[in-house]
Amino acid sequence: MSESDNNTTDSLRPDTLAVRAGQERSEQMEHSEALYPTSSFVFRNAAEAAARFSGETPGNIYSRFTNPTVRMFERRLAALEGGEACVGTASGMSAVLATCMALLGQGDHIVAAHGLFGTTTQLFDKHLSRFGIEVDYVHVTDLSAWQNAVQPGRTRMLFLETPTNPLTEVADIKALAGLARESDALLVVDNCFCTPALQRPLDLGADLVIHSATKYLDGQGRCVGGAVVGSQALVGEQIFGFLRSAGPSMSPFNAWVFLKGLETLSLRMRAHSRAAMTLAEWLLGQPGIERVHFPGLESHPQHALAARQQSDFGGIVSFELAGGQAAAWRFIDALELFSITANLGDTKSTVTHPATTTHGRLSEEARLEAGIVPGMVRISAGLEDVRDLLDDLTRGLAAITP
Ligand SMILES: *Cc1c(COP(=O)(O)O)cnc(C)c1O
Repeated sequence: MSESDNNTTDSLRPDTLAVRAGQERSEQMEHSEALYPTSSFVFRNAAEAAARFSGETPGNIYSRFTNPTVRMFERRLAALEGGEACVGTASGMSAVLATCMALLGQGDHIVAAHGLFGTTTQLFDKHLSRFGIEVDYVHVTDLSAWQNAVQPGRTRMLFLETPTNPLTEVADIKALAGLARESDALLVVDNCFCTPALQRPLDLGADLVIHSATKYLDGQGRCVGGAVVGSQALVGEQIFGFLRSAGPSMSPFNAWVFLKGLETLSLRMRAHSRAAMTLAEWLLGQPGIERVHFPGLESHPQHALAARQQSDFGGIVSFELAGGQAAAWRFIDALELFSITANLGDTKSTVTHPATTTHGRLSEEARLEAGIVPGMVRISAGLEDVRDLLDDLTRGLAAITP
């Protein structure tokens, strides 16, 4: 692909876009994308500097808001999500923050799902609330609760993740996009668990997609980063404008890692999904396990919706042990292969006790409202041989069965 046709990618299929979209080749004609670790860019003369700063001519100025490696990542992710514009951010949390700071003001109201990523709930309740932004929470699958929570003229945003963490509940994006449109609110979907390889919320009517690139977009647990994708007006102008002034920017090095991560995203997501399905089906039949949450299981309450909305079921499985927190901790401590870590979406399988880690800062009431019981364990299926993962889970179960 020559540089001139890098941006004429409309007719290409997703697996091709993941490898090719957005590349800006320098005069060195490098094959792999170049990394530009520079804080600023040089102008040929004073007039050129003035024209860049005024926006009269496009081009690089300063890496807080214009860096070619970050731009390549943004264009590639925008192509994969089917959005007009994307901005990379320093973390998934700063993607959430930038979205809210750019698009909301004092007195505005958000309707959000219970059981969002714990830190997103903290950001809403402890920080945005101080700026007069109010959030009400509803059950993610209860459409009439969403309808009832909307305050006409005041609700500006509906915010959700699907599948949710750690219960893997699936929200009906198309139905909620309809509600958002009727209510003159924006539908924001955190697409961290599926990634565009499995689900494209913008196609289903969402206005904005948020990512923690830290998870599957990197896919090998190396860098922290985030992104927002959507229209040129919302993302390319408003959120970009906030980022330019406030500075929670993605570093070029991290962008380069994520850019290369996107090239293998769809292969990895299919392999993670296959492994998770094997583990979920196996867990379902084991003694001491009360419930298994995975959208790929026919017993999952939104299995049919997930099959329609997603092209596969993802790599996250959670389950409830009969013996509560004590059993969950014993199970986790007996594992030798699964890493005990808060990260997910890594080639390495990970295990978490949500009630005392990722969701530990929620009140007990909010945690139980979200269905995160003390006996719950969450795993993220990695890319190891699934037979070794099953052996490890067998070790965990042996530690809790007398
Ligand atoms: C991890 C995560 C975030 C936050 O991302 P960071 O990169 O850790 O800031 C937001 N949403 C979801 C669903 C996540 O899993």
